[in-house]
Amino acid sequence: MLAVVIRGAGDLAIEGQETGDPDWGQVVVRVEAGGIGGTESFLYQNGISGPSGCVRMESLIPGHEVAGRIARIGPGVTGLRVGDLVAVDPRVPCGVCRCCRSGSPDLCLSPRILGTLMARRTPVQGAFRDEFLCAATQCVPAAFMDASALALSNPMATALRALSGAGELEGRRLLVVGNSTPAALAVAASRLHGVTSVAAASTEPQSLALAARLGADHTVDIERRPGALARPENRADVTLFFGASPERAALREAMLVDAVAPGGIVVLANAARLSIKTQKLFAARGIILRDAPQSDGQSKAFREAVSLIDSRHVQLDTLIERHYPMRDTRTAFEHATTHRGATKIQIAF
Ligand SMILES: [Zn+2]
Repeated sequence: MLAVVIRGAGDLAIEGQETGDPDWGQVVVRVEAGGIGGTESFLYQNGISGPSGCVRMESLIPGHEVAGRIARIGPGVTGLRVGDLVAVDPRVPCGVCRCCRSGSPDLCLSPRILGTLMARRTPVQGAFRDEFLCAATQCVPAAFMDASALALSNPMATALRALSGAGELEGRRLLVVGNSTPAALAVAASRLHGVTSVAAASTEPQSLALAARLGADHTVDIERRPGALARPENRADVTLFFGASPERAALREAMLVDAVAPGGIVVLANAARLSIKTQKLFAARGIILRDAPQSDGQSKAFREAVSLIDSRHVQLDTLIERHYPMRDTRTAFEHATTHRGATKIQIAF
């Protein structure tokens, strides 16, 4: 099989590697589509030295947002057949936490993520390869959509975790702040949660145009129209705040304080962080700050994401910026690192 391999900053190659045979409980997925996310772009731009405390390695196969078809099945696997279309959950159970040891690896409290480098963790090789050997429990089957749409399941799961962190959304005014695929997907999925209105705020005009296509009632360019969020009619009951690029974080935080109605809720999605100063301002206004759930029930959110995408209740065609064939992976990564906006660049394997 062929794999995309990153050895250092800007050092990307396609190499032949052995896939191996599926062992007990494992399957081989013939990967068809993989999305390049912030994680993959960061690895390509910065190399694989990793955070301190990370195990050193020669090379890393990137990729944690993939979908494809079951090609081979190992012993002991039930519920999957050769040819099934599946989305691959990028979370690899740790095997040692209390959930893993009590037979519920799908609830693992400390999963590792495919193709990432995390402090004090052994890296896991990712899924940007034409054949991928993994646990059958990571494969969530779908019936209708294609692999390209299903490769959006992980960012959709991130969006659903952010929405679930807000609690009851029926009849609430929602604001989604951010310039990422999960932020755009949160706009799309929020309609199914009964929100009264949904607004999108970002520093990127392309992301705002996408949010409008995905159902946002109004959009606010917080770089070019600062102050728009502070108008009382624009204030939200619930705000989802997705991770911000560092150079613009201060600007977004300043906007955020005025954007939330007194007594409202702010959900920090996808491990977003706010300064202590901003947190104190929220507390003074009775605004509740919550973290979106990160680890418990990960597989639940992923399965809901696959189901939602497969149901075709959200229109996702508009989210794919471009597909590149595997032989043009380097060009795809170059495009992804310069691409602005929340649309996705994918590789067809
Ligand atoms: Zn675990």
